Amino acid sequence: MRITVLGIALDLVTMSEAVAVLENFIAERQPRMVATANAEMVMLAQNDEVLAKILNQADLIVPDGAGVVWAARHQGQPVRERVAGYDLAQTMLSRSAEHGYRVFFFGGAPGIAERAEIVAGEWYPGISIVGTHSGFFTASEEPEIVAAIRNSKPDILLVALGVPKQEKWLAAHMTELQVPVAIGVGGSFDVMAGVAQRAPLWMQRAGLEWLFRLLRQPSRLVRMLALPHFVIRVLTAKKH
Ligand code: UDP
Repeated sequence: MRITVLGIALDLVTMSEAVAVLENFIAERQPRMVATANAEMVMLAQNDEVLAKILNQADLIVPDGAGVVWAARHQGQPVRERVAGYDLAQTMLSRSAEHGYRVFFFGGAPGIAERAEIVAGEWYPGISIVGTHSGFFTASEEPEIVAAIRNSKPDILLVALGVPKQEKWLAAHMTELQVPVAIGVGGSFDVMAGVAQRAPLWMQRAGLEWLFRLLRQPSRLVRMLALPHFVIRVLTAKKH
C-alpha cells in the first residue's frame, strides 16, 4: 500500500515484502528505481520539485528512517516494519549470492566501492559483483560510466552518491542503464568498507540513528535541522 508523507510517496512494505517486490522486478527485467525514504529526504523534496517528482515516481519507496515511520503512525497509516536501506541492500546481496544475481557498485570515494566489493565477497561467498566505479566523476566521464554499467548487465545496481544526487542521477539514466533494480544507498559502501559505522542496534531500535550520525559527524547539524521542521510539518499537516 502506498501512502504519502508531506506529499512524498511511501510504500508500507516489510523487509520480506520489499525483497519479494525486488525479486519480481528482477524477473520482469524492466528498468526500475527504488528509493529509501527518510525525514531528511522528505524535507529536501519539499523545496525540490525535481526530487519530489522522482520520489513519487519511484517503483518502490521503502520506510528507511524512524521519522517517516513515526509520521505514518501519526497519520493513522502505520508502517509494520522499518526497512532500512542498508539492511535492504545487504539482504539483496545475500539473495544475489544464493540466486546468482549480478550486482554493480557505483559510488563512494575512490577505492571504496572496490573495498566494499571485497567485503561483499567475504560476507556473501559466491556473489557476482560485475563492476565497481567511484562516485567522484566529471560530466564528461558519465557516458563511460553508463556504458560500463549497461554492458556489465547487472540485475541490481547500488548507487551511493548521497541524497539527492543518487536519485537524480538514476532518474536521468534509468532508460540507458536498463537495470531491473537500481537503488540509492547513501553511505552503505562506506559502512561495508569499514570507514563509517552504523548506529548500534539499540539506537536504531530507539529511532536514534540520526543522533549517532550527528555525534559522529557534527558537520551534519545544518542538514539535520530539517528533522525538527519535519516533525512540526507533520504535526500541523491536515489529516488525510
Ligand atoms: N558521494 C559520492 N559522490 C559525490 C558525493 C558523495 O560518491 O559526488 C558518496 C560519499 O562518498 C558517501 C555517500 O556518497 O559514500 C554519501 O553518504 P551519506 O552517508 O552522506 O549519504 P546520505 O545521508 O546522503 O544518504
